[in-house]
Amino acid sequence: MSIISISGLLKRYGKIPALKGISFDVRHGEIFALLGPNGSGKTTTLEILMGLRSFNEGEIRYFDAAGQQKVGLKIGPVFQTPVYYDNLTVRELIKYYSQFYVTPSNHVDKYFDLVNLQDKLDCQYKDLSGGQKQQLSILLSLVNDPDILFFDEPSNALDPQIRLKIWDIIRTLKSEGKTIIFTTHYIEEAEALADRVSILSKGEILVTDKPEEIIKLYNDNFKVEFTLEQPVDVESFEQFGVVGMSFFDGVYSFSV
Ligand code: ADP
Repeated sequence: MSIISISGLLKRYGKIPALKGISFDVRHGEIFALLGPNGSGKTTTLEILMGLRSFNEGEIRYFDAAGQQKVGLKIGPVFQTPVYYDNLTVRELIKYYSQFYVTPSNHVDKYFDLVNLQDKLDCQYKDLSGGQKQQLSILLSLVNDPDILFFDEPSNALDPQIRLKIWDIIRTLKSEGKTIIFTTHYIEEAEALADRVSILSKGEILVTDKPEEIIKLYNDNFKVEFTLEQPVDVESFEQFGVVGMSFFDGVYSFSV
C-alpha cells in the first residue's frame, strides 16, 4: 500500500532539467532509498516531497494506511546540514520546536534512549559534536509525530561509529511503524538500511528494486574489483566516473 505516489515529476532550475519526469511509489512502513551520485537530483526530489520546493510538471499523491488519498502528510525532515539557534540548549530547542505542534512537548521524551542526549539537555547547540547534532536533528524531526521521515544523506561526514548509531535509530523508527525516505550516495548504506532503492542518475530513475537485486545489477556491471586495507569514500573516486561502491568479505567493488 503506497503512502506517496510520484509520477512524471519534472523540475527545471532555469532551463536546466534537474528531474526529467521521475516516477516511483513509497509504501507504508518501508525504508526507501534514493541512491545516486552528486548532482543526480536526490536533494531536489526530497525537497519537493517535503513541500519545500516547487516543481514544473508531474503529480504527487499521498495516501493513508487504508489507501484513502490525503491532502498531505505530517513530515519529519532531517537535513544534511541543519541550522538551529546556536545559543539555545538541547532542552530549549525541543521546547521551541514543540510549540508549533499540538503534540505535547514531552512527546519526544520516549526517544531519548534512542539518541543518547539525556546528559546534553543543558548543552548549547554549538557545543554539540557532529554526531550529537545529527541525533538532535532526528529528535526534533519527531516532535510532530510524523507519518514519514525524510533523511538527506543521513550519515554523510560522520565517523563510522556514529554512522552505525544513526542506522540503528533509523531501523528502530521503522520498527515503530514510521515510513522513511533517505538519500545517499553510498551503495552500502542503501544495502544496509533500505527495503527498496531507486537509482537516480542525471535526473532519471534507472531502476527501483530491492537492494539485493540492485547489488546483482551492479555486480554485473562491475569493471574493477580490488582489496584495500583502509575504508575509502566513493566521493574520492567520482572523478574516475565511479558511481557506486560495495563491500563484501574485505573486497571493495566499484561500479562505473
Ligand atoms: P544531489 O542531491 O543528487 O546531489 P541535487 O538535487 O542537489 O542533486 O541537484 C540536481 C541538479 O540540479 C544538479 O545539476 C544541481 O547542480 C542542480 N541544482 C540543484 N539546486 C539548484 C539550485 N538551487 N539552482 C540551480 N541548480 C540547482
